Amino acid sequence: MVESGGELSRSVSMDKIVELCKRRGFIFQSSEIYGGIGSSYDYGPLGVELKRNIKEAWWRDMISRRDDIVGLDSAIIMSPAVWEASGHLKHFTDPLVDCKSCKQRFRADEIEGDKCPECGGELTEVRQFNTMFKTFVGPVEDEASVAYLRPETAQGIFVNFANVLQATRKKLPFGIGQIGKRFRNEITPGNFTFRTREFEQMEMEYFVIPGTDEEWFEYWVNERLNWYIRYGVKPENLRLRPHPKEKLSHYSKATTDIEYNYPFGWGELEGIANRTDYDLTVHSEASGRQLTYFDEETQTHIVPYVIEPAAGADRAALVFLLDAYEEEVFEKGGKKDKRTVLRFHKAIAPIKVAVLPLLRNRPDIVEKAKSIADELRMVMTTMYDDTGSIGRLYRRQDEIGTLWCVTVDVQTVEEDNQVTIRDRDTMEQIRVPIEDVKAILMERLQY
Ligand code: ATP
Repeated sequence: MVESGGELSRSVSMDKIVELCKRRGFIFQSSEIYGGIGSSYDYGPLGVELKRNIKEAWWRDMISRRDDIVGLDSAIIMSPAVWEASGHLKHFTDPLVDCKSCKQRFRADEIEGDKCPECGGELTEVRQFNTMFKTFVGPVEDEASVAYLRPETAQGIFVNFANVLQATRKKLPFGIGQIGKRFRNEITPGNFTFRTREFEQMEMEYFVIPGTDEEWFEYWVNERLNWYIRYGVKPENLRLRPHPKEKLSHYSKATTDIEYNYPFGWGELEGIANRTDYDLTVHSEASGRQLTYFDEETQTHIVPYVIEPAAGADRAALVFLLDAYEEEVFEKGGKKDKRTVLRFHKAIAPIKVAVLPLLRNRPDIVEKAKSIADELRMVMTTMYDDTGSIGRLYRRQDEIGTLWCVTVDVQTVEEDNQVTIRDRDTMEQIRVPIEDVKAILMERLQY
């Protein structure tokens, strides 16, 4: 694993991914017909499948397949007392500067020097800007009805610590995970879905006996880094960045970011933090409820330490898209040909199989292809497409990362009741009886 970045030759620019996402239906600008709204995006038919697969893989590996972690789905709007106690009202701020000439705003920690990066103008003093979204609960818009859209999912877990412990009787170490929207009024959103104001978090709080926290921190850093590699992200595009002590959040004893080599440079993909006993302690004090764990061995009440791997589902979707993208030149019939292919891992690919009729004006071929698609659709995401020549249909499926294409041709209906299965990565084709297709693909889908 590299600890510092180098220039990698990349085949994809951000513009190419943005264009492909729009054209093929992964991600659209939100409210586009009204000119759009800054930093909001909508996931189209393929994007929603992609993001669901990422969230499902996370849930499966972090919760379903583990005996020590359970799930939760807490509310977005919580009591404002939560944010008072957690320190978010005071600390969930970004340092802000304005340019006195062009009036643009910047995050002070994201610019170099003391001049405006756009026009070279003079900047104002740094002000702290709270990035929580405020709203009002009920019909009256006054101070007493102020509420916030949650700036992180973690607090929903901490305030339910005693409920979950009581309900599940878990023993330390154990974790509580959840996936959900969070909101952050970013000063400078940008780079497509990398930094938006509304995004989905996949977060887990792992409660441990104090003193074992550093070991567990290491464990989760490795576990999470390997998770991205397991699902196909190239190791050379990932690195770990431990935060210097003076830059740690108010609750953290140690934080390490998993960074990705985006087309615009290295940036965070996931953060793993040692939150100590900070959150349970402050909520205990503020609420008057005891948020402790009774350790039977030592017969004492202890406040567990917490290790938190916090990943962004939207940022992960962007990373899986960027990392899967390849433009490939290959030989076909003695001539050079070119294709764009998204080499998604099989768990992540939005569409697993496409069923294609070789001739769309032959009703018997079309009917056979549709009936195969109907059967496959019951067990995996399947697309039927007859809107072009076969070469063109293959290119289109490669470009969205479909794992296999099943083609029905004249021979299928006139001679052997067999079809071809074409593999996205090798482009190899095998001919198999129709009744075996489902079993073969189900077998290949295992990982
Ligand atoms: P940064 O330093 O980039 O502002 P952070 O360290 O404050 O981010 P966390 O609050 O630790 O971010 O968020 C955990 C994860 O949530 C990040 O690793 C990222 O994947 C995702 N995330 C954070 N902010 C955004 C955002 N504005 N848009 C999309 N995803 C985000």
